[in-house]
Amino acid sequence: MQQQQLLKIANEYGSPLYVYNAQKIESQYKRLTNAFDKVKKLKVNYAAKALTNVSILKFINSLGAGLDTVSIQEVKLGLHAGFKANDIIFTPNGVSLTEIEEVAKLGVQINIDNLAILEQFGSKHPKIPVCIRINPHVMAGGNTNISVGHIDSKFGISIHQIPHILRIVENTKMKINGVHMHTGSDILDIDVFLYASEILFNTAKHFDNLEFIDFGSGFKVPYKEGDIETNIEEFGKKLTTRFKTFCKNYGKELTLAFEPGKFLVSESGYFLTKVNSIKQTTSTVFAQVDTGFNHLIRPMLYGSRHEIENISNPKGNQRFYSVVGYICETDTFANNRRINEITEGDILAFKNAGAYCFNMSSNYNSRYRPAEVLWYNNKAHLIRKRETFEDLLKNQIEISF
Ligand SMILES: *Cc1c(COP(=O)(O)O)cnc(C)c1O
Repeated sequence: MQQQQLLKIANEYGSPLYVYNAQKIESQYKRLTNAFDKVKKLKVNYAAKALTNVSILKFINSLGAGLDTVSIQEVKLGLHAGFKANDIIFTPNGVSLTEIEEVAKLGVQINIDNLAILEQFGSKHPKIPVCIRINPHVMAGGNTNISVGHIDSKFGISIHQIPHILRIVENTKMKINGVHMHTGSDILDIDVFLYASEILFNTAKHFDNLEFIDFGSGFKVPYKEGDIETNIEEFGKKLTTRFKTFCKNYGKELTLAFEPGKFLVSESGYFLTKVNSIKQTTSTVFAQVDTGFNHLIRPMLYGSRHEIENISNPKGNQRFYSVVGYICETDTFANNRRINEITEGDILAFKNAGAYCFNMSSNYNSRYRPAEVLWYNNKAHLIRKRETFEDLLKNQIEISF
């Protein structure tokens, strides 16, 4: 999006503010489906947890995607947004059997990643087809918090436990209609992905009634000019060839599924903040903005690096700034970063603010959560109001003393 447009939107809706560009979401969706256009049955399930605003879900539904969910609440939001139950997959971790049963009752595809739950579910509901999430034990991903495929990860059923899975399936007569893996975010090397895929194919061979193979997600997106990213086009070519061979040997045309979150929405997002003050210390120039890790926690949680542009002064001389928040705890967004000269009241735009940003926000320090705007058809649409004082009191029960 143009900096001028963003600045206008900030002036109209105030700050801090999340802005999403619908066109970027659409082009990313098309990039992925084009990379796999030789696959007869392709299913892209958007990982709702990345950005769950209902208008975003509706837009992604309109593109033809399905939905990947991790809680019954996400399932309900998906249904509310218009996704059909059979276009939703439920891939939870550590939730109760009761929640899985409730979701299954809605007609949503269940994905189980725990032997005990598999056995209980299969015994009670042998007729409901289930997908199995395996752990291929491939170390991938940019950060241990988002890498979920390693040996001591809590995610998935270990490939070393496949004999157990087979015994449960045989005993319960349950139907396994899919196999799945998701090895973590920010995978750079497509060979790592292809290697993990081989493990998934080997697992798939054990099951006779498959309808789909779900390769999860974890595509890396660029965070700055010239940054490395997953080469989706090359990956598409290689995996398509391999998938076709597998289907031929398997004797059935299966659906190839993905569930990208970050890939679809990360780059669509901008987080607009206003500079409250400039603080010069003996060593550093701080730009203090009207937000903190209450609204954008990824830099502190994952060490993620969001590009920051001064859209109020895009032609100004560059200087070094540390961009920090207003929370009474360390909330550093950027350390000694080159940014066009900043003065009080300037609007700074954080890039890659579509995935895991608003959705991880909180009311810490009793601040209101930001508003959200969708830029669609050359127009700004407010898709979430800024919170108000009433929201802080909502659900609190006051007692008198
Ligand atoms: C979070 C998650 C995703 C999405 O991961 P991205 O890195 O955002 O693409 C996909 N599948 C599952 C099971 C997840 O938990």
